[in-house]
Amino acid sequence: MKELLLIPGPTPVSEEVLSALSKDTIAHTDDRFAKIMTSALEKTKKLFGAENAFPFIISGSGTLGMEMALTNVLNEGENLLVLSHGFFGDRFVEIGKTLNANVELLKAPAGETVPLDTIKNVLSKRHFHALTITHVDTSTGTLADVEAIVKVAQEVSPETLIIVDGVCATGGVEERFDQWRIDVIFTGSQKALAVPPGLTLLAFSERAIEKRKAMSKVRTYYGDILRWMPIMEDPHKYFATPAVNMVYALEKSLSNIMAFGLTAYFEKHTRMAAKVRAALTAASFELLSKHPAPTLSVFKYPEGIEDGAFRSRLAAKKVIVASALAELQGKAFRMGHMGSVTEDELFVAIKKVLEVCEELGFKLDKGLVLNAFLEA
Ligand code: PMP
Repeated sequence: MKELLLIPGPTPVSEEVLSALSKDTIAHTDDRFAKIMTSALEKTKKLFGAENAFPFIISGSGTLGMEMALTNVLNEGENLLVLSHGFFGDRFVEIGKTLNANVELLKAPAGETVPLDTIKNVLSKRHFHALTITHVDTSTGTLADVEAIVKVAQEVSPETLIIVDGVCATGGVEERFDQWRIDVIFTGSQKALAVPPGLTLLAFSERAIEKRKAMSKVRTYYGDILRWMPIMEDPHKYFATPAVNMVYALEKSLSNIMAFGLTAYFEKHTRMAAKVRAALTAASFELLSKHPAPTLSVFKYPEGIEDGAFRSRLAAKKVIVASALAELQGKAFRMGHMGSVTEDELFVAIKKVLEVCEELGFKLDKGLVLNAFLEA
């Protein structure tokens, strides 16, 4: 059996996408490459529901996306409101502080989200230049209601720019950049898009671009959207060398997703999440989040199952899951169910989890668990 990579990113990459990656490298200004890049940019807009936005594909991980989102719209000393429901939300605080922004953090307990009333209250008391939302926080498996948050922000503070981290959401959950009126969104290649790690995809609204243009000083060179815009408009031009082969892989995977149908792809994620959850809760694992994301699940261990033994025995059976982060470490594990992973593969993973539970002396009704998976 091939190793099943079920951590919440990177996710398995199909043979087809891997073979796109291994095609001959051509000049980054070659007409053939420009066409592939333009096609990937067009699909990036569709993915984000951002037909009216300006798309970017840049070499670097999701953290570059986070940093570009802030450096391009926030001046030193401006106010940033961070809504955090986990480790990756908190990362915005660190980036904001690095950029000398005035950062205020609204943090939800593990598995919860910040209540809309609290957000409304804070936004109506003080002006914030920007607000960050982590669509899915990968540390807690929690999904934020981006549409509702933007609505509230628009009501009480329409000038606040809305920044959405879609790293663990985009492709697995619907995002409607234009309709919801998001200003900056970004994702990474290595999660629901089923491409190796290495690219960040972004979209900026006209309003966000205007803000960047009005900034007299930008504290990034490589990440400055004004340097990249001419290249994204015409990829024959040069600013910094794009990751040519990674763009082949991205374009191939996005083409496959679009051919499958975006809505069908979202539904596939919802279904996979429901099956995994039905099975593992039947096996006495507890789902951490009150607002669970379709892309990954964080499960608390039942009494008697030790984290290290569980994950290493599972790895020996070629199923790789991730440890929990921060205060949840040792108490829970994280399982991704996104990208090119199939229901059949997840069924195999559940069977392996049952084997490990048995090895660890944890008694379960296997039939019940497997039926829960099949019937969900
Ligand atoms: N945001 C979220 C929600 C993430 O899950 C991650 C990575 N797991 C990041 C940002 C950072 O991305 P990267 O590790 O690719 O820099």
